Amino acid sequence: MLAFDYTRVDTPAEAIALAVRDLDARYLGGGTNLVDLMRETIEAPRSLIDVTGISDEIVVQQNGAVLIGAAAKNTAVAENAAIRAQFPMLARAILSGASAQIRNMATTGGNLLQRTRCYYFYDDAARCNKRVSGAGCDAIDGFNRIHAILGTSSSCVATHPSDMCVALAALDAIVHIDGPEGQRMIPLIDFHCLPDDQPQIEAVLRPAELITAIELPAASASPRGTYRKVRDRASYAFALVSVAADLTIEGGRVADVRLALGGVAHKPWRAFKAEAALRGQPATEASFLTAAEAELADAQPLRDNAFKVPLAKRTIVAVLSDLAGVTA
Ligand SMILES: Cc1cc2nc3c(=O)[nH]c(=O)nc-3n(C[C@H](O)[C@H](O)[C@H](O)COP(=O)(O)OP(=O)(O)OC[C@H]3O[C@@H](n4cnc5c(N)ncnc54)[C@H](O)[C@@H]3O)c2cc1C
Ligand code: SF4
Repeated sequence: MLAFDYTRVDTPAEAIALAVRDLDARYLGGGTNLVDLMRETIEAPRSLIDVTGISDEIVVQQNGAVLIGAAAKNTAVAENAAIRAQFPMLARAILSGASAQIRNMATTGGNLLQRTRCYYFYDDAARCNKRVSGAGCDAIDGFNRIHAILGTSSSCVATHPSDMCVALAALDAIVHIDGPEGQRMIPLIDFHCLPDDQPQIEAVLRPAELITAIELPAASASPRGTYRKVRDRASYAFALVSVAADLTIEGGRVADVRLALGGVAHKPWRAFKAEAALRGQPATEASFLTAAEAELADAQPLRDNAFKVPLAKRTIVAVLSDLAGVTA
């Protein structure tokens, strides 16, 4: 690990002022991803601005929305009574990730910006466009079992590793941001980028911008929402495929549905095509399969990850069938 300066701040204004002075500085949350990357010298910021002192409050607002401070620990969010009651999909997603120790350290802001688990990204002997722009991508013709099947490019086929963000995508969460040019809000589904020809750009944050909170809109509250993660081991493994889902059925038909996928793309993947295919249809296994096929129709599997296509379809059908109370 290379030498670096460290400063702890208590407010977004202090954090942004420091970051503006040194655009090579990085914000530090729990450090569970960034410090690992610094140890491997994959990242080498000159200075760290510790933002764990900014708001970690989880507040239910008068309109029923919930505002989660960016410094709130993953454990605190998963254990919060309002979130467990109204947004159980989010609590389940968080609890399916990492370990209790890591969730106790990891922050909401840091979780959004954790970096891919592509093996070649962590191996500085490998070619990686995300690490070194224009270097090439050893994953495309290499060992690519864990890689993406949707929204890939000829530059990068990495996946976004977060479980939490898949639930946030399904819940229409809003990212609150503060920065040198003021505050702004971005829907979570527009916050992360697809790789295109610039896979080093992973989110739409501008220089020195800081995540200050995540908002869960009241309209997406539901005691039914759920999250299922399929992985190689029962714990301590990233998703091969995951599904965040909620379903409203009226008169045997799908009145509303929320569906997002993890482990399949460079960003949390909101399954808009499947949702559109389902609305108004009978809440049956056949409809769920048709919707899953609509979403996966554009999948472009690589040599080792074609299994993700049927796995994603089966997981979507199984989760929706459970929510509908029909047998999958
Ligand atoms: C062994 C292991 C297993 C894991 N398994 C899983 C898993 O199964 N599922 C899963 O989802 N995750 C998993 N993780 C990842 C873990 O969830 C992330 O490391 C964690 O969420 C990152 O949060 P952090 O606060 O520690 O971020 P940090 O490591 O501190 O920071 C991560 C990034 O976010 C930036 N950042 C931090 N806060 C802010 C802010 N407020 N505004 C702007 N930028 C900010 C930092 O500059 C950095 O780029 C695992 C991690 C480990 C080490
Ligand atoms: S898939 Fe992306 S992260 Fe992995 S080696 Fe290729 S460019 Fe790098």
